[in-house]
Amino acid sequence: MEQQSPLYDKANSILQIRRSRAEDQAVFDRIAKFAAEQIESSQSDYGNRIIRQACVELLEPKDSERARSFFLREHVIEEMKRLADEELGRYLFYRYRYDVFPQTKELDDYPPCLQIEPTSICNYRCVFCFQTDSDFTRPANGHMGMMTFELFREIVDQAAGQCEAITLASRGEPLICKDIERMLSYTAGKFLAMKINTHAGFLDERKAHAILAAGVSTIVFSADAASEPLYSQLRVNGNLNRVVANIERFQKIRTTQYPGSRTIARVSGVRYREDQNLDAMERFWGNLVDQVAFVDYNPWENTYERPFSGTEPPCSDLWRRMFVWWDGRVNPCDVDYKSLLAVGRVTESSLSTLWRSEPYNRLREMHLSRQRSQVFPCQRCTVT
Ligand code: SF4
Repeated sequence: MEQQSPLYDKANSILQIRRSRAEDQAVFDRIAKFAAEQIESSQSDYGNRIIRQACVELLEPKDSERARSFFLREHVIEEMKRLADEELGRYLFYRYRYDVFPQTKELDDYPPCLQIEPTSICNYRCVFCFQTDSDFTRPANGHMGMMTFELFREIVDQAAGQCEAITLASRGEPLICKDIERMLSYTAGKFLAMKINTHAGFLDERKAHAILAAGVSTIVFSADAASEPLYSQLRVNGNLNRVVANIERFQKIRTTQYPGSRTIARVSGVRYREDQNLDAMERFWGNLVDQVAFVDYNPWENTYERPFSGTEPPCSDLWRRMFVWWDGRVNPCDVDYKSLLAVGRVTESSLSTLWRSEPYNRLREMHLSRQRSQVFPCQRCTVT
């Protein structure tokens, strides 16, 4: 008999986040002003319809925030505080589709968010990560590599003006990629919700400048503990002292040389063990970064060997994000880190074609008809 595993709620994977709440209301006041004055002149008819709907849902009185199908999560409010008024429409167009389309199972021509993997290589072996799977990391098996700048440029050229949210990260540590500075520079001014995730072990001065000059919206430093030995028990091969020194230097450069920077610095940990403590994390990291958070643990490290999960509801990520690996292969998620679900390559089809391709739609259909138990590895995964 199949065993029912606890679900991994992708839309609410941030368990806790600590940040300043000053001026939250000002964001809603600006949206109200925008709704009253600017919507009609924003974009296409389709874009205007989405933006109008987003404003209605945000501004309509409701008994509680959670009663809304669209509401602004705390980290989203922080990103919006840093936008100019004329950027609000573009941002709402992205964010509404990102939050609501996975609920309504709608698609349009582009994924609300695109994750681009500069490299699949990492020097860490974090206990909860697929990098601990030697079948994945063995070079002869073909999963390891770095994206070329030329391929990156082609992807960004297609995504600019279509996907507002770009995340530079997936299976590897992005700052290991030899072209990462050039890549960052190429994204400058093109995306309103640009994110990069890093363990910060390679965050030297040049890379700090590249990130800040590109106007990255959020840099996420992956760290799950406030002290040794817990840090390196979880982030195996990591060095807490080096990471702290690198983040301190990054913040000093941000403050002194990029005074108008919109980049948010967040430390984010995976809640993996009982002895991890957000209060201790905040005491340690709180003075160094803008936000401290914990995300829920998902057993990424053994996707293919987990027992059947018995999960029936569809995976929301199929309507939210699309992943492009370093070699141009396109995958619906990185839980499937060996690309069994790959839908094609950006070297052969456009991003838009791949997002609405037959294999992608077939996978969505299997989930919608409650047949994910027939799909390997979705049958072992608990993401909903
Ligand atoms: S393995 Fe399947 S269910 Fe799990 S995240 Fe990927 S697409 Fe979703």
